Amino acid sequence: MPFQPKELLKTPIEYLKGVGPMRGDTLRKELGIVTFGHLLFHFPFRYEDKSAFTKIKDLNKDQENALIQGRIVDYEEIGVGQKSRLVAYLQDDTGSMELLWFRSVSWMKKALSKYQEVQVYGKPTFFNGRFSISHPEIEKVVHEANPIPFFPIYPSTEKMKAMNLSGKNHANLLVKLLELVTIKDLPEILPAAVLEEQRLMPRLEALQQIHFPESEAQLTAAKERLIFEELFIHQLNICKLKLNQNKVEGFVFGKVGDYFNTFYKNHLPFELTDDQKQVLKEIREDTRTGFQMNRLLQGDVGSGKTIVALLAMLIAMDNNFQACLIAPTEILAQQHYQSIKKEVEGQGINVSLLTGSLKASERKPIHAALENGELHILIGTHAILEPKVMFKNLGLCIIDEQHRFGVAQRAKMYKKNTRSPHILVMTATPIPRTLAMTTYGDLDVSVIKKLPPGRKPIRTVHRNDTRRSEVMQFIKTEIDKGRQIYIVYPLIEESAKLDYENLEQGYELVTSYFPDHKYNVAMVHGRQDMEQREHNMQGFVRGDAQILVATTVIEVGVNVPNASVMVIESSERFGLSQLHQLRGRVGRGAEASYCILMTANKISQTAKKRIQTMVNESSGFAISEKDLEIRGPGDIQGTRQSGVMDFKLADIVRDVNILAEAREMALHILKQDPFLEKEENAPIKQYLSKRRGKEIWSRIS
Ligand code: ADP
Ligand code: MG
Repeated sequence: MPFQPKELLKTPIEYLKGVGPMRGDTLRKELGIVTFGHLLFHFPFRYEDKSAFTKIKDLNKDQENALIQGRIVDYEEIGVGQKSRLVAYLQDDTGSMELLWFRSVSWMKKALSKYQEVQVYGKPTFFNGRFSISHPEIEKVVHEANPIPFFPIYPSTEKMKAMNLSGKNHANLLVKLLELVTIKDLPEILPAAVLEEQRLMPRLEALQQIHFPESEAQLTAAKERLIFEELFIHQLNICKLKLNQNKVEGFVFGKVGDYFNTFYKNHLPFELTDDQKQVLKEIREDTRTGFQMNRLLQGDVGSGKTIVALLAMLIAMDNNFQACLIAPTEILAQQHYQSIKKEVEGQGINVSLLTGSLKASERKPIHAALENGELHILIGTHAILEPKVMFKNLGLCIIDEQHRFGVAQRAKMYKKNTRSPHILVMTATPIPRTLAMTTYGDLDVSVIKKLPPGRKPIRTVHRNDTRRSEVMQFIKTEIDKGRQIYIVYPLIEESAKLDYENLEQGYELVTSYFPDHKYNVAMVHGRQDMEQREHNMQGFVRGDAQILVATTVIEVGVNVPNASVMVIESSERFGLSQLHQLRGRVGRGAEASYCILMTANKISQTAKKRIQTMVNESSGFAISEKDLEIRGPGDIQGTRQSGVMDFKLADIVRDVNILAEAREMALHILKQDPFLEKEENAPIKQYLSKRRGKEIWSRIS
């Protein structure tokens, strides 16, 4: 009795004409093709362009693969048993060559026939004056009335070849399948508006075209459609999580009032960049919805995140809330405090600084003012997290430089009021766009892309150890102009002992380099106690020391506008984003600035590429994208397991633009129809509920 499934694409593959139980079994075992649907979504991995045959006389030794059409004039088995091989002689109108098989000999021998016209494809080798191809893909030429220009070639195995399931035969199965498939079996799943806006090929057509493209353009359009579909569905799942799962009730910042307006009109030291305005708008929108904001603000070093933070805090104050700003180090907290205090001077705004080094007697009034609401803005370090620091009405907490803060620490801030205050996390560590959209896609992300106008680019150069004295000479001229210098050494946990030795040697070397000059060289590293380190650091910040020799403890946030040169030792050992962070320490003043990347004389190709990226690129985003390209997404921590890279056709690095479009569309749709209840979204909802996103989906809807 013929099998009659409700859905054509769920029909077991053996019921397709030309398959049957034996071949069905092979397809299942070799390619995991169990149903009609699986066969339909098993895509060609390349296409043969029928116009691109190579003539035998034109073969050359360096050629990768060649497609040749000719006739088998003869064939013979040479040797016996295990060691035997099959040789076939192929001829076209320009010459002859050999085809060789060392496996499946007896099967191939049966499959070949004399004078058969065939097409073969494979890598030609030249031996004993003749060209040959071992284990070519081979298929019989059938002269068709309307030959298709692009012939699909599917991934295949030897066993499939043995079952007559490769090449033309595989393609024939698809011809048969596509004859059966109608729009009923393969309805459009993307909403009409998406199809139209993205100008995508309809689904059924795309599947027909990806197997049997009528032209290059059609093939491209089909792939684009299917890649979009894949990424769009992924994004719908991720964005749905983001929009519906993290909805915690939050305070409503209903208005913008005097604190904000007065500052904005009369005290803003410069015009905001468009990006800064946009971020502010996003924060404003988040904080008036009644849900808690959890937003990540990414902005390159020096992009001006602090002023956005201040303006957001003023909005909190306009709604009768307090705000706080947490920095990862004491120096940074102090810098924020000083600059913010200056900016809001005379506007009736009370700002205090709370750090670990504050004496109990100094803390007391701060605690009191926080609790009775007199204090509007608290700036500080981890000390703010302590439970004894209580606010009257904290509405907004800003955390600067996120990578020094864990989720657990952030969670401590949730408990500082009856409801969780809004949280804005600011980081200069750029997350590549692709990963921000996939792995981190469930966070709200704001981005400041453009630096404020008038920045001088930092000139970056690569120097190896043999040119060290030249570098020292350069340092000397800069110091003589009144500038300050950073020299940074790597510190890797596994080689910490050696690294510290290098650092100390470096320190000795630098001090000994300028014997006749009274340069002060300060050193900071993680083995010093806090006080010592802060003391040395302050010496450099004040300008008492001209040179700071350091490990990466200086990475985060310090602002010494007079420093104009950043020398990074053994720079091949740093990650690209770290190099970029370090470089961002200079170029903050009016002077031309330099970053000198020192390396050993000999470094690996990859290291060279990375250093070159630093020399050529100045934007943190471009650098993080390059980083992704050089390392590959699979290398980035945690992404391998996350399944993010499990796409059939899509490649998140190559297809980043499609990914961005898909995300935007997904967000757009979900914003208007969070549970996909509208009629136009019914097909996609139905599709999603049937598919792998199942768990996520059913949990929400
Ligand atoms: P980061 O994002 O690294 O924290 P900052 O907020 O410290 O950057 O800003 C870096 C410098 O740029 C500061 O001196 C700040 O005053 C200045 N700045 C910020 N925004 C602008 C702007 N729109 N126009 C001009 N200068 C700006
Ligand atoms: Mg900053």
